[in-house]
Amino acid sequence: MKKHKLIYLDYAAATPVCAESLKALEPFLSENFGNASSLHKQGMKARMVLEESRRSISNILGCRPEEIIFTGGGTESCNLAILGMGRMALKNAGRSKPHFITTRVEHHAVLECFRELEGLGARVTYLNVDKEGYISPDVLKKAVGPETVLVSVMYANNEIGTVQNIPVLSKIVHSYNINSRTKGKAPVLFHTDACQAPGFLDLKVNFLGVDLLSLSASKFYGPKGCGVLFVRKEFNNRLQPILFGGGQEGGIRSGTENVSGIVGMSRALEVALKHSANETLRILKLQNYFVGEVLKIKDVKINGPLNSSGPTKSLDFKPKVQGKMLSRLPGNINFSVKGVEGEDVMLYLDAKGICVSTGSACSTGSTERSHVIKSIGVKAEEWLKGVIRISLGKFTTKEDLDYTLKELKEIIYKLRQVSEKQSLV
Ligand SMILES: *Cc1c(COP(=O)(O)O)cnc(C)c1O
Repeated sequence: MKKHKLIYLDYAAATPVCAESLKALEPFLSENFGNASSLHKQGMKARMVLEESRRSISNILGCRPEEIIFTGGGTESCNLAILGMGRMALKNAGRSKPHFITTRVEHHAVLECFRELEGLGARVTYLNVDKEGYISPDVLKKAVGPETVLVSVMYANNEIGTVQNIPVLSKIVHSYNINSRTKGKAPVLFHTDACQAPGFLDLKVNFLGVDLLSLSASKFYGPKGCGVLFVRKEFNNRLQPILFGGGQEGGIRSGTENVSGIVGMSRALEVALKHSANETLRILKLQNYFVGEVLKIKDVKINGPLNSSGPTKSLDFKPKVQGKMLSRLPGNINFSVKGVEGEDVMLYLDAKGICVSTGSACSTGSTERSHVIKSIGVKAEEWLKGVIRISLGKFTTKEDLDYTLKELKEIIYKLRQVSEKQSLV
C-alpha cells in the first residue's frame, strides 16, 4: 500500500520555520553567539543585527524602531500589554476602580490576563459577539466610560477566523478620547492581539489605529518563543514591566535578548509580507473549495463567517484588507460535525497522517467546549462537541484537501454508525 505523506493542516497552531528565516538565524546560535549587551566585538555584532531586525519590523508595522519591544512570544506580548497597563493603572487608581474592555472570543493569553486584573480589583467588560464572531461598533461605544483604561480586541480569531474591523473599533475609542474624556485624564488605549494576522492582513499600526499590538513569530514561519509588542512611544510610560532584571528593551522587558530568534523572526516577517498578496489569493481559493465540499456532508455546519470575501451578513461593514474585502482569515476553516466527538475525528485523521485541531490547541488536553464557539451562540451539545478546525498554510495543496475530505467522510460515516448502534442498545 502506498503510504501517504504527512498532511499538516494546523498552521494556526504552529508554522514551520521558513528556509530564509532558518538561514538568517543559524549563525547567531553558533559562531555569533554574543550577548547584545556586551561591549566587545561579539556583543556589538549581536547588537547590530538586533537593531537591524527592529528597524525591519518597525518598517513593516509603519512605526518607529523604538516602539518595538522584543518578547518571548505572543502570550508574553499580550501579558505585557494588559498586565503592564493594568497593574500600573491599579497602582495609581486611588479610590476609583479602573475599567477594562475586551471580548468573549479572545485567546486565553488575553482572557486570563483580564481575569488576573479582576482578581486585583479591576472591573472588566467582556463584549458579546454576534453569531459570526463580530464585535459591533455600537456595543463598544456604549462600553467605554470615564474609568476605562484599555480596550483589547483581537484582530483575527484563532479558532473561527473572524477578522474584526479594527480601524472602525479603534476610531470609536479615539473619538471618545477627543470628545468625551475628562480633561487631564490619560487617554483610553487600544491593544490588538494580531498573532494570526501576518501574511494575510494589513499590519500598519496607523491604518489599524492601535496603540499596542502583539505578534508571535511561530505563527508566521519564524521560530517559537519569540514575539513583538508594539507600544506607541508616548504611552510606554503607562506600562509597568512584568519581568525585572537587567533593564533590556528600554527597561520594559529585562532578560538577555533572544538574538537568533529575533533575527529569524524579522526575516520570517519580511518573507511573509513578500508572499502575502499571492498567498492570500491562493489560500482563499483553497478555503472556498474546502468549505463548499465539506458542506456537502450531511449535518455539517461552518462556524464563523461563511465567506472570506464579501460583506458579512450581520453587520454593514466590510473589513478591507490589502485592497480586498476580507471578513475571515483565508487559512481558517472551522466546522461542526453534528453528533460526533471532534476529538475522535481529530485522532482518526491523525492515524491517517492528517493533522487538524479541535478548536484551540491552547486548551491543552482538555475536552472542555470552546468558549469561542459558545460565544457565537452554538448551544446544543451535539454541535458543540463536534468542532474541528482546519488551518491552511504555505505547503497546503488541493490534493491535500481532497485526501482529507475523502478520509473525513469515511471517518464521520463510521463514527455515526457506531453512535447509532450505541443508541439502539
Ligand atoms: C498563538 C496565539 C497567541 C499566543 O502566542 P504564543 O507565541 O504561543 O505565546 C496569542 N493569541 C493568538 C490569537 C494566537 O493565535
